[in-house]
This record gives sequence, C-alpha cells and structure tokens, in this order.
Amino acid sequence: MRHTLSITVKLDLDFRWARIDVHGCLTQGSCRALVPIVDRCFRILQKPDVVIDLSGAQHIENEGVNTLRGLGIVGPTSHPVLRERTGTCSLVIPDDLPECPSLRTNPRAHGSHRFVA
Ligand SMILES: [Zn+2]
Repeated sequence: MRHTLSITVKLDLDFRWARIDVHGCLTQGSCRALVPIVDRCFRILQKPDVVIDLSGAQHIENEGVNTLRGLGIVGPTSHPVLRERTGTCSLVIPDDLPECPSLRTNPRAHGSHRFVA
C-alpha cells in the first residue's frame, strides 16, 4: 500500500502566520514529515502562529494524529532550539477521519457521479 503525503505551506507576507495544508495520506509514518516544516515556520515567523489543516487530506490515520500530538509540535509551544521563539501551532481535524482511497473495494459506492452532457 502506497500512502503519499502532499503539503502546501501558505506564508503571511508580514511573517505573522503560516498555514500548512495537508493533502493525501496522513499516517503514523508520514506525519513526521511535518516536524521540519513546523520547525522552519517557527524560524521564519516573527511571532509564530502556525495552523496545520488536515481537512483537505484524503486519508487520516488516528495513530497519525496521536503521533503528531505526541511529537510536541501542537499547542502553545516553544522552538526546541530557538527558545525565544514561542508561538502556537494548532491542528484542524475533520470530525470523521477519512479512510485511504486505495482501501476502498468499490470506489463508486462513495458519492455519486454527475455527468454533464
Ligand atoms: Zn492512504
């Protein structure tokens, strides 16, 4: 099974906030890829306010979310090296964690298709 994580980072031009949009599969293994990105945001931003938005992800493992929380990068946090860089990093999680599209046996059972003539 191949899970692919894709990340888009949006930066405020005045370096006040960053938004990390996550697409693809957030798994226990792939979530660690977010750590160096949050780290870079904390280095760049004047007063770090980072949001990790999982609402666009196609697949979210509960273990991935728990691991992300356990890594210590979510919540009011300070940079591990740059101690003066204290900021917040919040997580936007959809109510229902989506299953991996590659696990679906019948993809047509999910949603309807609209044909335009
Ligand atoms: Zn997946």
